[in-house]
Amino acid sequence: ALTAGIVGLPNVGKSTLFNAITKAGAESANYPFCTIDPNVGIVEVPDERLNKLTELVQPKKTIPTAFEFTDIAGIVKGASKGEGLGNKFLSHIREVDAIVQVVRAFADDNITHVSGKVDPISDIEVINLELILADMESVEKRLVRVQKMVKSKDKEAMAEEPVLLKLREAFENEKPARSVDFSEEEMRIAKNFHLLTIKPMLYAANVSEDDIADPSSNEYVEKIREFAAEDNAEVIVVCAKIEEEMAELDDEEKAMFLEELGIEEAGLDQLIKATYQLLGLATYFTAGVQEVRAWTFRKGMKAPQCAGIIHSDFERGFIRAETVAYDDLVEAGAMATAKEAGKVRQEGKEYVVKDGDVMLFRFNV
Ligand code: GDP
Repeated sequence: ALTAGIVGLPNVGKSTLFNAITKAGAESANYPFCTIDPNVGIVEVPDERLNKLTELVQPKKTIPTAFEFTDIAGIVKGASKGEGLGNKFLSHIREVDAIVQVVRAFADDNITHVSGKVDPISDIEVINLELILADMESVEKRLVRVQKMVKSKDKEAMAEEPVLLKLREAFENEKPARSVDFSEEEMRIAKNFHLLTIKPMLYAANVSEDDIADPSSNEYVEKIREFAAEDNAEVIVVCAKIEEEMAELDDEEKAMFLEELGIEEAGLDQLIKATYQLLGLATYFTAGVQEVRAWTFRKGMKAPQCAGIIHSDFERGFIRAETVAYDDLVEAGAMATAKEAGKVRQEGKEYVVKDGDVMLFRFNV
């Protein structure tokens, strides 16, 4: 399963946010494929479409889809040199598929800031630089090896060398690998290097309780947004402390609480959705009277692979899929009406599943 790692300097609110995620508590019985690890939190993906399908179909139960966040504590200045928990920290980042960087955007004199004052841009730069330095080291090592092989006209090495040189140049300018303008072929090569800064990243600006209703009034948030825009990275505003409190509430209480705060959607929900996008994930649905359920797939997956997410037998014995787009089904109001209107398609092995497809798989056992 794909997982997103939460990183950030000490005292920025990582644990608080991670607690909120874990407490919001996905029922792990529904997600047997997820890791059981204290540093891994399972989150359910909020999806209005699932509520709508539940209204239409009136199933016995409804199950949202979920994915994992990993809490990666321990980055400090010097991590790439192996200081603190440096190496361990970097190896944890290597295992995740996307990075959520928590940035402190709340002032609170009672909570020490590691570098003495709240300065989100300098915080971001500290972390990004550690990741870049670690990547620089791997690229330089590889470059030495590859350049020797280029001398003996090794084909693979000759293809790798320009990619490594581009990366080194970016790192020298303190730019992450994800910002390098690669051709498709170069990108394919670069992905083999297992770099940290090639992973997609977004920023979670952790603001104080007072700023959550109007984050634009927070100068730190504005600075983070400006910084992130240069990298085309997304910024989500959260108040980790409030999210931790809200995680204890049921849906109705949560809605009231949000209304009191004057916000439409909880920051954590926005963060979950944005991270899901960042991971390149999408959702299809199954909608039967027993169960209406959302399933996560990677964008680009074909129907048999998607069937295999439910059960490997579904993939092995795949015959075809009966598919209707979510919007078409909702417009028709019922599966039978959608069929009459010709909106239900028969799709074969080559069908690339789309976000929002409602699927029924036909298979041989
Ligand atoms: P970590 O070291 O990054 O995991 O940070 P923690 O989650 O342990 O938070 C450090 C301190 O900041 C704790 O005392 C938290 O209660 C406090 N904190 C975290 N988020 C917020 C927030 O949104 N507002 C305020 N005022 N304090 C927060």
